[in-house]
Amino acid sequence: MEKTKDRIYADCAAQHPPRQVAIEEAMCAIRNFGNPSGVHSAASDAAAMLFEARRKTAAALGAKPSEVVFTSSGTEADNLAIYNGSMQGMRQGRNRLLVFVGEHKAVINAAKMTERIGMTVDYVPSTPDGVADIMKLEHMLDDKVAMVSLMYANNETGVIQPVKQAAQLAHKCGALFHTDAVQAVGHIPVSVKDIECDMLSLSAHKFGGIVGAGALYVRDNLPIVPQMAGGMQERGRRAGTEALPAIYAMGAAIEAAYADMEREAAHTEKLCSVLKERLKHIDNICFPGENAERLPGVLCLLLPGKDGERIALLLDREGICASSGAACTTGDAAASHVLTAMGYDERAAKGALRFSFCAENSFADAERIAEVLLRIIDE
Ligand code: PLP
Repeated sequence: MEKTKDRIYADCAAQHPPRQVAIEEAMCAIRNFGNPSGVHSAASDAAAMLFEARRKTAAALGAKPSEVVFTSSGTEADNLAIYNGSMQGMRQGRNRLLVFVGEHKAVINAAKMTERIGMTVDYVPSTPDGVADIMKLEHMLDDKVAMVSLMYANNETGVIQPVKQAAQLAHKCGALFHTDAVQAVGHIPVSVKDIECDMLSLSAHKFGGIVGAGALYVRDNLPIVPQMAGGMQERGRRAGTEALPAIYAMGAAIEAAYADMEREAAHTEKLCSVLKERLKHIDNICFPGENAERLPGVLCLLLPGKDGERIALLLDREGICASSGAACTTGDAAASHVLTAMGYDERAAKGALRFSFCAENSFADAERIAEVLLRIIDE
């Protein structure tokens, strides 16, 4: 199916358009096929490509190649982190997980799963600006906490979280610290050494890679057990043949994203400002998290009393792709847990829309979105 050329795509936080270099490298890995675990030359070529992707991914994060475990997605990386944080904690008599209330479902539901093996999950509240309440986190910590998980940036509001502070607090009481950096990596500088995190998740299709690859950064010497039984791939930390085309493309995409980061961020931030400026006079409109530090290129807005999902469908009829919240909760009748945690009531939260831009969007896109949205609301 050919993509419509004149469609305006403003849902890059759900799926960033694949970068040209990622498409080329994926094709290269598809053509030069081989299983990296084999002994012949096709296998060792594949293993070399795998290492190249590992080196580039590690370099972007300020990590060592050995600290990168490839997965199939951000969701898998989050699950691997939460599972291992819990298992490690249990062995030390620590049975509590602290997760931010505004986490992505990949973290929240993975944490809930650990209740079956005897963990207790407590939620760190959000301030009205969408930031994890660090003072409350401090009070929640004790020597029973196995791990704290706080996302780097929220996928609905774009709000950047105080991960460094949270990591320091977690470590002070002997707990591990994991951050879901799926929305941050490739868009703002992320350094594992600066945050001092034990684990960090990322996902290729959020910064211009090909869907089907993700990674979990795991601090050196932190033992990781695989969630799926199988072969010894990823040094025994994640079984299953690596999806080399997607992983190789991810290495290229992360390198390109970091090379262009400042320029892309400045551009997408301006697009958000233009759109916000055009929309700010709509009755009762609000912009959740607007006073907090946020990702460039993500604009979340609320139209209280309106149905965000319906408006997203009407925008689509006019050739505009946007989202009414997190892509993975589409069809979920409940209002966003992120927005209700910030204090918005259900009625307001259901009027959420998220526009997210990349380098390929133009000022004309932002202008057109504003024009169509104003018309839809008027009608
Ligand atoms: N974490 C966050 C913050 C996300 O935004 C997403 C996807 O939207 C995920 C995790 C899940 O990543 P994936 O789609 O690669 O499974």
